[in-house]
Amino acid sequence: MQIIERVLEMQRWSESERRQGRRIALVPTMGALHEGHLSLVRDGKVRGDRVVVSLFVNPAQFAPQEDFASYPRDFERDRELLNDTGTDVLFHPAVEEIYPEGFETRIEFGELSKPLCGAVRPGHFSGVATVVATLFNIVRPHVAIFGCKDYQQLQIIRRLVRDLNFDIEVIGHPTVREGDGLAMSSRNAYLNPEERKAALCLYRSLRHAEEMVRRGEWCGAAIVDAVRGEIAREPLARVEYATLCDPESLREVERVEETALLALAVRIGKARLIDNIILKP
Ligand code: AMP
Repeated sequence: MQIIERVLEMQRWSESERRQGRRIALVPTMGALHEGHLSLVRDGKVRGDRVVVSLFVNPAQFAPQEDFASYPRDFERDRELLNDTGTDVLFHPAVEEIYPEGFETRIEFGELSKPLCGAVRPGHFSGVATVVATLFNIVRPHVAIFGCKDYQQLQIIRRLVRDLNFDIEVIGHPTVREGDGLAMSSRNAYLNPEERKAALCLYRSLRHAEEMVRRGEWCGAAIVDAVRGEIAREPLARVEYATLCDPESLREVERVEETALLALAVRIGKARLIDNIILKP
């Protein structure tokens, strides 16, 4: 596995691979890797001839009071995991390499960035889209793989690619979970053992909603109330949002018709955890 830190070197590598007719897959990450990330990398290996994993904790997507400084970082461990998973290039730029002095551009979104995480993390998706567009121009992938766990992010990237005509196929990879159902996340590292147990309420409430729909419930308010009720039974958990929305536009819906996205953000201790499920009647 090659480690590349400079933009120019990354661009040259990609140009050379493209000239040789190879298909490049990109998996953007912020490191502190877990099996969810590695599953995206393996998907990338199937979809491309070469897999590039970027590891960059992007300051532009964190608000000042958020966890940029304390975000878990373990480069040596990440490097080994990526090497063992068959990554071809680990792109690991410094912050100044991506945002050199004088960097001024920001990509803004309309309606898609307003609900869900966008409502509680203003500027977050603008930071995500800006860095992803930058990475796309540096790595020039044919295909880019993102996790469905960060559902709103995935939709925003799809829209970015469509609106700005990036010639890139965007893949949404299913959420990878621990054996007991908790969605894998770098931020699970913030949980102590008691909080880790409490965190199961996210998945439990999503499964409960799925079961309600299976039994014929279609009313959004009833489903969301049940989800909130389930999480309220867990004293360590506090719901930030629980919303039923259209999976494309992310606009809130009142009933489960064809499909609906049930999305959750819950605070437990220092961690802010998100999860979601697609409901189908
Ligand atoms: P992060 O390092 O948290 O920014 O995540 C990098 C990529 O991995 C994003 O596309 C995430 O959606 C994806 N990802 C994170 N956790 C999971 C998971 N449990 N299952 C699937 N994809 C994930």
